[in-house]
Amino acid sequence: MGESVMREIRRAVVTGGAGFLGSHLCEALLAQGCEVVCLDNFLTGTPANVAHLTHQPGFHLHRCDLTDFVHVPGEVDLVLHFASPASPIDYLQLPIHTLKVGAIGTWHALGLAKDKGARFVLASTSEVYGDPLVHPQPETYWGNVNPIGPRGVYDEGKRYGEALTTAYRVSEGVDAAIVRIFNTYGPRMRPHDGRAIPTFINQALAGEPVTMAGDGEQTRSICYVDDLVRGILAMARSGHSGPVNLGNPTELSVLQIARDILAATGSSSPLEHVARPVDDPQVRRPDTSLAEELLGWEPRVPWAEGLERTVAWFAEQQRSSA
Ligand code: NAD
Repeated sequence: MGESVMREIRRAVVTGGAGFLGSHLCEALLAQGCEVVCLDNFLTGTPANVAHLTHQPGFHLHRCDLTDFVHVPGEVDLVLHFASPASPIDYLQLPIHTLKVGAIGTWHALGLAKDKGARFVLASTSEVYGDPLVHPQPETYWGNVNPIGPRGVYDEGKRYGEALTTAYRVSEGVDAAIVRIFNTYGPRMRPHDGRAIPTFINQALAGEPVTMAGDGEQTRSICYVDDLVRGILAMARSGHSGPVNLGNPTELSVLQIARDILAATGSSSPLEHVARPVDDPQVRRPDTSLAEELLGWEPRVPWAEGLERTVAWFAEQQRSSA
């Protein structure tokens, strides 16, 4: 699992840095005095997510497809590999690209870390646990994934990425780590990315029916983005290889999430039940004891507070685009 050390990060590369999580990571690294090279092909992210950072001298944004050759001049202390379509709507529309960036993109990002002697962190996912038969999910659980189901392109792409990261660590000596990220929410999620929280908030604010998959009894454990970013950077600065789960263990039914969003937006939108997606996991909750033990990390932002901040951001977006 590696030793407990504090690594100095002067210059970091964030792949997928113009996406939801990547943009928050770029922002946090800059605020901590690091130089940041953000690589993105804007497939599911947008330069608008980092527009507020472009005036900062330590920030460099480069359009680049990770599945092509990747070259970053100069020293690099850390590679955070976040480039990948992440929401079901995206990876179901982009199945081959999702597999390519999970395989070839991860290979290139690991090659960059090896070349620079940099620390590497792979953004893996709770989806490696599939529709889990163990609950909550500890890192020692190997998962229940359908490789040929529609979600297989994402789940298996990430499982392959974990295998590749481990191979580079063990056989090539790359200082590589894996974090398994559970559902995260917050400002800069795309309103139409198909994930439950932005969809429900957008529908509630617009006064449209809130579309609930199935009876809504399936559960999700949702982490506010600031907590997640703190966990990822703690992992980046540590010497641990993981995999380490990062997420909020508070488990809510999707129905509860929808009701809380209706209350937080003051909306009277009705609930409308739609079909559950194929292989949609029934339950999801991280066992975060390892992150607590190794990194002293636990989520701090309660759901009510995170929801309030997220609703405020979406309401502002709707006002400015009206
Ligand atoms: P996102 O879609 O907002 O960000 C992904 C970014 O990667 C986008 O900016 C996209 O343009 C970029 N990208 C995609 N293919 C690329 C390529 N070939 N070359 C360069 N850039 C490319 O998604 P997100 O929610 O910010 O997720 C970021 C990462 O975190 C993903 O790897 C995802 O699998 C992982 N993750 C996210 C969550 C979550 O709840 N958001 C949960 C688990 C894992």
